[in-house]
Amino acid sequence: VCWSEMGGWHRPRVQPYGPISLDPAAAVLHYGQEIFEGLKAFRHADGSIWSFRPEANGARLQRSARRMALPELPIDAFIDSLKQLVAVDGDWVPNAPETSLYLRPFMFAKEAFLGVRAAKKVNYYVIASPAGAYFTGGVAPVSIWVSTNYTRAGRGGTGAAKTGGNYASSLVAQQEAAEQGCAQVLFLDAEEGKYIEELGGMNVVLVKKDGTLVTPHSESILEGITRDSVLQLAEDRGHKIERRRVTLEEWREGVESGEITEMFACGTAAIITPIAMLKGASVEIGSADAAAGELTMSLREELTDIQYGRREDKHGWMMRLDA
Ligand code: PMP
Repeated sequence: VCWSEMGGWHRPRVQPYGPISLDPAAAVLHYGQEIFEGLKAFRHADGSIWSFRPEANGARLQRSARRMALPELPIDAFIDSLKQLVAVDGDWVPNAPETSLYLRPFMFAKEAFLGVRAAKKVNYYVIASPAGAYFTGGVAPVSIWVSTNYTRAGRGGTGAAKTGGNYASSLVAQQEAAEQGCAQVLFLDAEEGKYIEELGGMNVVLVKKDGTLVTPHSESILEGITRDSVLQLAEDRGHKIERRRVTLEEWREGVESGEITEMFACGTAAIITPIAMLKGASVEIGSADAAAGELTMSLREELTDIQYGRREDKHGWMMRLDA
């Protein structure tokens, strides 16, 4: 779909996958004016194709658009774009456990000019790619690297928007994590460097001995749809939820004293990933061979059961894409 200041959203169409041409002065290439989303299409046992809370992704794309001075795509046009893609490419939704078709909606400034201002010509696309099981051979707890050299986002910045620049700025931190043998990087807040924020591409949740789930509240993290859903499922089971600032020190003390019994990361790609340990320049929390937590795995199973249509969808989260 194209957008221009004069014409609004126009020219919706499905076209064969292939290169797109851009003017070398296209604003996105210079000033990073772009946003995106990530969600999945799941095949249910009867062959039907569903997506998980796509309206929430559509609403988040609108919030990202406002932050990045891009036009808001109406939610019904967002949903329609997913349905139209699935209508032609539905055969690509795999039919095997834990597999899905990953959907990547994105929007960028294509107007050609050199100068820092909001573009008046924008394109919105959706591409799709079949995704295999994230974990093969069982869900394995991961180690996380606490970055003290880099932060991801500061007050008033773009941290809460899903925009490429946030990911570009996390690349070196992710490289540092990999060099330390860690699967992901954990960012701390930019102002004081003591509050936990999120991982490069996932939110974080801690489970306390009394069953309370604690997750960082911050203006500068991406509000994950997986996290929101997992916390809702836990609340349905009677767990208390705390969304508040959490220091790295509280995490360390909690694990050492046994007050924190489980920790996990969550996001669309891996759904829920148990965290075995956290290490960084001056901390070491947990141990590399820690087993996945019981509540962590049971919430993971409940959520994937809903996504694959094996369990009742009490919250009306699933939307059919192929009908
Ligand atoms: N934080 C960041 C930085 C992410 O990229 C993602 C993945 N979109 C998440 C959190 C988790 O969000 P969601 O559950 O909506 O995939």
